[in-house]
Amino acid sequence: MSYSDTILGRLREKRPSLWINPGAGQAPEAAKPAIDIAAAEDRLDRAQPLLAKLFSRSAAGRLTHSPLVAADALGAALGASNQMGRWLIKADHELPIAGSVKARGGFHEVLAYAERLAVEQGLVAPGAPLTALASPEARELFSRHSVVVGSTGNLGLSIGLISAALGFRAIVHMSSDAKEWKKQRLRDHGVVVIEHAGDYANAVAQGRREAEADPSSHFVDDEYSLDLFVGYAAAARELAAQLAEQNIAVDAQHPLFVYIPCGVGGAPGGIAFGLKQLFGDHVHCVFAEPAASPCMMVQMIAGDEPMSVYSLGLDNRTEADGLAVGQASLLVAPLMRTRLAGVYTLTDDQMFSLLGSAEQALGLAVEPSAAAGMAGPLMMAQSAAGRAYVAAHGLGPLMAGAVHVVWTTGGSLVPAAEYEKFLDRARKTPTNLDFGDA
Ligand SMILES: *Cc1c(COP(=O)(O)O)cnc(C)c1O
Repeated sequence: MSYSDTILGRLREKRPSLWINPGAGQAPEAAKPAIDIAAAEDRLDRAQPLLAKLFSRSAAGRLTHSPLVAADALGAALGASNQMGRWLIKADHELPIAGSVKARGGFHEVLAYAERLAVEQGLVAPGAPLTALASPEARELFSRHSVVVGSTGNLGLSIGLISAALGFRAIVHMSSDAKEWKKQRLRDHGVVVIEHAGDYANAVAQGRREAEADPSSHFVDDEYSLDLFVGYAAAARELAAQLAEQNIAVDAQHPLFVYIPCGVGGAPGGIAFGLKQLFGDHVHCVFAEPAASPCMMVQMIAGDEPMSVYSLGLDNRTEADGLAVGQASLLVAPLMRTRLAGVYTLTDDQMFSLLGSAEQALGLAVEPSAAAGMAGPLMMAQSAAGRAYVAAHGLGPLMAGAVHVVWTTGGSLVPAAEYEKFLDRARKTPTNLDFGDA
């Protein structure tokens, strides 16, 4: 049986699996279309005073910037040996307002649209600070336009909240199984929430149809938007600066491993794309997906033809609502062909167990989606596929000096009562976190 067939067989059985990308480490092709991360970084920089004004002065500087925190205690709690290198957490779960990794991508997308409209009307000069987007003239302009998005939850929160704050009509299409509190929070902020039967892809398709019929409407396309992608990618420079500040080397002697939960692929793909530009062969990006929704792994294996998790008989039902996507982005998957080290899957029980460990070891409150990356270092160290990757890249002797960054992608907005239910499930579910079989 071929490697792909073996892995697809495991996915059908929902067994936790690590797939190593055969294209990893090959020279990357130039991205088409051109991907301008610097322009996104510049726009987010120019937006900081505006964001502080729209949301909260106390959160100034933190709306699109999250801490990088030591997490060796989590590694120890999970049984990692100190020969594996150090553990860090990139704490996007602490991002205020958006509450997740969607802050950078979502805010950037809406800011870019708002800036285009305002420049067209002469309300702001190209390249100027974006504070003028909060002027009465700009608000009046935005009130005549709508921003529309289809979302499983967190993208809707990010896009909906900033759009409403700028004065746009904001419309979020959600699948009916999206979390009630997310819908309520949006409605509380004046966002129109439209619920759809069926999965996230239906919500997106419906949103797209309605927005395309209306020229005063901007559709945020989770599957194909470059403005989202480059906004997410801006996290790479942020991480690089934090590593440098903390005197953590990334070089030929000190490999950097980054583990990021993956839904449609935009957020982890953007981050991986940015990190590869900065660190090249010294960074190894690994995505994490639920066993019920391994859409990026399936698409990477399929290559050019679209392939969904449903074609494997999987149901895309998971408590990790940020990752419940059946078909990966066909913009992102090709960009990962040479840039991604691998993708692994884990069960919902394993995610809850990791969520509980993060709370116990570090006092961090994350949502189930955001716990998925915490299995990454164990996957690389314990599984046959992970060990083979380390050996093939000559990293074995370097692992004691490796840096593992686990991206915790969301959680700060989860209501306390909901979070207690997560912890309760974590406590009640005895879970195997040995990934030796993966
Ligand atoms: C959206 C999301 C992701 C994944 O981002 P995609 O762009 O969908 O791949 C991961 N974690 C959380 C908490 C999210 O909300």
